[in-house]
Amino acid sequence: MGGHANMGQLPDPELFRQPPQRRWENPMIAAVGTYAIRITWDDGHEAGIYTWKRLRATCPCAECTAQTASE
Ligand SMILES: [Zn+2]
Repeated sequence: MGGHANMGQLPDPELFRQPPQRRWENPMIAAVGTYAIRITWDDGHEAGIYTWKRLRATCPCAECTAQTASE
């Protein structure tokens, strides 16, 4: 499985010492077909497309872990 080059890499701890520049709220979430969702933040920044499969694979809960393992 490729495309996870950044996984396991910790973010810069300095990021957590700084107050957030702004609050991120009201993202627009739109369905992309039946396989993914597209997230657009309220400043127009687009976070991209997240497939259900990717969200499942990222989620650590028992249900998603079982679902991912069975595929
Ligand atoms: Zn889950």
